Amino acid sequence: MKIPFIELKELLTEYNAVLHKAQTNTFFTVDTDLQHNEIENVAALLKKMSKEKKQSIKEQNETKANLLLCLGFAANAVQEELRMIISLKTNEAEAAWNCLINAQEMVAAVMRNHPFGADYLEGYGYKLQGYETLLFPKMTFSSAGFTIKSSQCSICKAPYANCDHIKGNAYMGQMCTEIIQKIERFEEVSIVDHPENKRCRILSYSEGNKRIDALTHREITD
Ligand SMILES: [Zn+2]
Repeated sequence: MKIPFIELKELLTEYNAVLHKAQTNTFFTVDTDLQHNEIENVAALLKKMSKEKKQSIKEQNETKANLLLCLGFAANAVQEELRMIISLKTNEAEAAWNCLINAQEMVAAVMRNHPFGADYLEGYGYKLQGYETLLFPKMTFSSAGFTIKSSQCSICKAPYANCDHIKGNAYMGQMCTEIIQKIERFEEVSIVDHPENKRCRILSYSEGNKRIDALTHREITD
């Protein structure tokens, strides 16, 4: 990937080095303290990137601001991958699942918005998908249908239905989201294979008269 912003050269060199080192530690067998250190190293890098992004917004350089947003998200994804592994080691299955989904969503957001194309992340996306199928039982997802009465655009603060911004797209270094303010009514909850949000999953199932946790297969007693 060729980046046209010469002023970012030093930061991007550091970015590549920090991310490379963090990724050499995204293995289950690696010492947990070392993995915590890597999360902090990436956090320090993200601080510098955020400063640079603020400067780009000041300069009204949307391409640069969106580039920094995307690189930041990719770094966040590696942090979440490390957190997932640590959570698995400490028997925190739900936290591990949520970290994995965070990482997947961040990579998807980068793929959609990277101003110079993010094909280089395709392999990483497959790796995250691989974790989902190899490390976790197959989850059943649900989707809630409801009518939104009012919602706001996170970028321009206008009613979402009336503005031209599209949720999931980046504008001047910010991701557009639809902030739901009022729900008119819930319509249905359905079981879906490809949910919009993989955090909406069936948490437990019954086995005889027992409730079983869908992730850990432990009996739920309280
Ligand atoms: Zn808007």
